[in-house]
Amino acid sequence: MTEETPTVWVPVCCGRMMRCNLFRQADGSVLAALVCTMCSKNITLEQEPLAEPNHYGEGTNLLRLLGSPKPPKTDRRKVVSEPGGDEPTL
Ligand SMILES: [Zn+2]
Repeated sequence: MTEETPTVWVPVCCGRMMRCNLFRQADGSVLAALVCTMCSKNITLEQEPLAEPNHYGEGTNLLRLLGSPKPPKTDRRKVVSEPGGDEPTL
């Protein structure tokens, strides 16, 4: 019996959670931008209906991503580097 805690993925850069802003496009779609406040790295996320994730190929991961316009400024040191991939071994 394993109690599974619900988890989300947190975008991290420079040891901090990235800031997430939403932008509404002229055509009504919404874009999200993850921004690192330290190095200004910028990642754009496009929203897509979750109808057929399979067309991305085998091994596709569906991530539940946590985004916040005001992420906590706490250090996330544990995220540095873990060789062996991020496949959870349960
Ligand atoms: Zn950064």
